[in-house]
Amino acid sequence: MGKIHGSGYPERESTLERIKAIRQDIGKDLLIFSHFYQDDDIVELADFVGDSLQLAHIASEKQDAPYIIFCSVSFMAEMAKILCSPKQEVLSPAPKARCPLAEMAHIHDVEVLWKGLLASGEEFIPVVYVNSTAEIKAFCGKNGGTVCTSSNAKKVFEWVFGKGKKLLFFPDENLGRNTSYSLGIRDEEIKTLDPKGDKGLSDLGKVKVLLWKGFCYVHTRFLKTQIEKLKNTHDGLKVIVHPECPPEVCAVSDLFGSTSFIKKTIEEAPSGSKWAVGTEWNFVNRLSKNNPDKTVIPILESRCNEMAQVTPERLLEVLEGIARGELTGRVTVSDEIADGARVGLKRMLEIA
Ligand code: SF4
Repeated sequence: MGKIHGSGYPERESTLERIKAIRQDIGKDLLIFSHFYQDDDIVELADFVGDSLQLAHIASEKQDAPYIIFCSVSFMAEMAKILCSPKQEVLSPAPKARCPLAEMAHIHDVEVLWKGLLASGEEFIPVVYVNSTAEIKAFCGKNGGTVCTSSNAKKVFEWVFGKGKKLLFFPDENLGRNTSYSLGIRDEEIKTLDPKGDKGLSDLGKVKVLLWKGFCYVHTRFLKTQIEKLKNTHDGLKVIVHPECPPEVCAVSDLFGSTSFIKKTIEEAPSGSKWAVGTEWNFVNRLSKNNPDKTVIPILESRCNEMAQVTPERLLEVLEGIARGELTGRVTVSDEIADGARVGLKRMLEIA
């Protein structure tokens, strides 16, 4: 993919050159995937760059290359492992990079809640955000539910309501609430559960959507007051944010949607337009560089520390391992969990 940007530092430049050389030697046996939130050097080296939904579709289709290096946090690398062919090895340059939002829903708590819901007599379908562990994806697959991303959450929620059922959604409360609002669901039909506190399973009659109290620290840093201040100081500024932002932030923004929606909106916006963007800083910075005819600024410089654990140096270690015939950063998921999670993920890919 084009020329390597680099940082201007000699050590980094030589790392990038070494990556390019090994990458060329390995050839078609290797695919590199990168999430949009990775830094420019990683994005420039990747064969595929996208949001979770785009990368899930690609992982389920590209079944020939024996090696996939997945540059992102662990739940996405696990998702690729579940969706690709069993013969393919998925390798992570940062196997310990775990998304804190994904860690907010533990399988034990989910199972306890589910038992309570079954006993309540109300019929719920469990839907888990892709930012979750493979165990919880498997739980949803086995219990008639599915997975969603921020790109397809609306369609997945409609799929649940089309079955005449209620929705249990976890772990991101904001995505659940923002998506519910966009479908016309009112506050009195939404209930948030604190998994560590009262399970709150009484009075579920009116409830259409039950939400888990999880959040992404990168997106909850954006505040309504920051947006109001920006709008007051920049004439004609439009604001676009990710749906993991709090509802009051989405309410004062002009638009909200997934990273691919944000990218497309800005790319297609008129030349000269001005945008403030509320999502991970690497991505906003790249949008700004790639759209020089527009003004694109971050609402705030909010970075994901876990995504940043993937570095060119760590990518090089994985590549050198492949070249030596020693696999480092191997992603593994037990057969039982992978089978259940695959059911949930494939259902999602059929819905949207
Ligand atoms: S940006 Fe938020 S949701 Fe995404 S990986 Fe980082 S902490 Fe997790």
